[in-house]
Amino acid sequence: MSHPHPELSAPSALPPGALRVIPLGGLGEIGRNMTVFEHEGRLLIVDCGVLFPEDKHPGVDLILPDFEPIRDRLSDIEALVLTHGHEDHIGAVPYLLRERPDIPLVGSQLTLALLDGKLREHRLKDVQKNVVRERQRVQFGPFDLEFVAVNHSIPDALAVAIRTAAGTVLHTGDFKMDQLPLDGRLTDLRAFARLGEEGIDLFMVDSTNAEMPGFTISERDITPVIDRIFARAERRIIVACFASHVHRVQQVMDAAVEHGRKVAYVGRSMVRNMGVASDLGFLRVPPNTVVDVREVDKFEPNEVVLISTGSQGEPLSALSRIAARDHPQIRIEPGDTVVLASSLIPGNENAVFRVINGLARWGADVVHKGNALVHTSGHASAGELLYAYNIVKPRNVLPVHGEIRHMRANADLAVSTGVRRDRVVVAEDGIVVDLIDGVVRVAGKVECGYVYVDGSTVGDITETSLKDRRILGEEGFISVIVVVDSVNGKVVGGPEIKARGFAEDDSVFDPARVLIEEALGRAGREGTDDTYQLQQLIRRTIGKWVSDTHRRRPMIIPVVVEV
Ligand SMILES: [Zn+2]
Ligand SMILES: [Zn+2]
Repeated sequence: MSHPHPELSAPSALPPGALRVIPLGGLGEIGRNMTVFEHEGRLLIVDCGVLFPEDKHPGVDLILPDFEPIRDRLSDIEALVLTHGHEDHIGAVPYLLRERPDIPLVGSQLTLALLDGKLREHRLKDVQKNVVRERQRVQFGPFDLEFVAVNHSIPDALAVAIRTAAGTVLHTGDFKMDQLPLDGRLTDLRAFARLGEEGIDLFMVDSTNAEMPGFTISERDITPVIDRIFARAERRIIVACFASHVHRVQQVMDAAVEHGRKVAYVGRSMVRNMGVASDLGFLRVPPNTVVDVREVDKFEPNEVVLISTGSQGEPLSALSRIAARDHPQIRIEPGDTVVLASSLIPGNENAVFRVINGLARWGADVVHKGNALVHTSGHASAGELLYAYNIVKPRNVLPVHGEIRHMRANADLAVSTGVRRDRVVVAEDGIVVDLIDGVVRVAGKVECGYVYVDGSTVGDITETSLKDRRILGEEGFISVIVVVDSVNGKVVGGPEIKARGFAEDDSVFDPARVLIEEALGRAGREGTDDTYQLQQLIRRTIGKWVSDTHRRRPMIIPVVVEV
């Protein structure tokens, strides 16, 4: 969402030979990452993700970056680089391709394979896909790209170095520096160092965990905890995690084999993603391990483990339905063990605790991040970020991927390693940053708001309609219908007052009805007969009465019918 920066205006034209960075999402929030680079009149985009709605966005399915600032320049786009397959980086790709289907996509094998399902859902065919690997170099217009392996909570993630005539950018994507990763694929610090020696003019760095001191715990430290859970469980085990966390699923799969249990995937995205990951060799599935969820009842409770979606308490997910005893195949029984092997994304707390309470009510033992080491973050903590700055020694820094507090903390880390304070820019979505003669500066701002997906509509829901939904949800709704004689302006019917979500008995409105009758009577004597004015009068009268006597501000719909 673009933030008020009254001191900034639209940026002037980019001087020749300079590089412009336009963040359209992900700077100021965790989600819907999208950054546009402009150079020599051409555009390169890095990531195009979604943000998941919170309670304050009732009825909204997804939130997209705002494409408006580039809408009349779609033909200038050379490529869309996808750093990894998380929803906050690839979820909005189909919506951008709807506007120009032949934008070349660039990403690793797993990233593009995970995107395939979405492209099919949106019936996008003949999409131009360019699979790249770490250490590979490819040219798109004036952008010379080199990819660097990074370690994250999904396999096959990449950082990207962008060489241009204006200088070299290194964008980390999401990363951490697990020194003993499960798949042995390290963040390639040797490449970071080589690029640093060559000279990084602008370092764009993941800020998510910049406030966390020290180092992010290794994935390997989770393994013995999962093993202990399996050793102790006497009945069925259900593990919920992100449907893209291949390494977590691998750990659970390995423990299942070790303890003689079959594995069943629960939830559409889990089934689909793990199919993709095992087809491509990112997930090792021993023969005769995975069974269909419809067959789990053929096994004793201590012979299966279910790996499920829904670790964030998403209401329609498998785990929420299991917790509500609303799942067609799976019932929780006393003594079952449920493991939430995931982080708790801010904003989801209530939903997650609702699920945990639901499971506990049926007698399950619930293990989660709060009571056992069953999850570790996918993002670098402060200690790792310091290493990154010291290895790369960048000339300028732009923290990305975080709320403002995370980006500020990241900026301080950069400064503490010797980057000049005036070469570190903390910018939010819409703030345009130019790299001119090797120096960054804020060049202005572009308007970029939230774009809401609601059912099949994109962008039709506005802030105003969301405000209406919140008022309806929290304050209820009152309608007042009055029938007026069109000749003499006298009230001939009503006022009829109906309320929803307010009070059980409409008789509470009797005093208000009298006030409205009086107000309409006065208006009639003063010669007011305009329908709109009468409606406003009714709105004001009942609005004041509700506010004074009930301390409520419901939505009020006055209707004046002339006969
Ligand atoms: Zn990620
Ligand atoms: Zn991310």
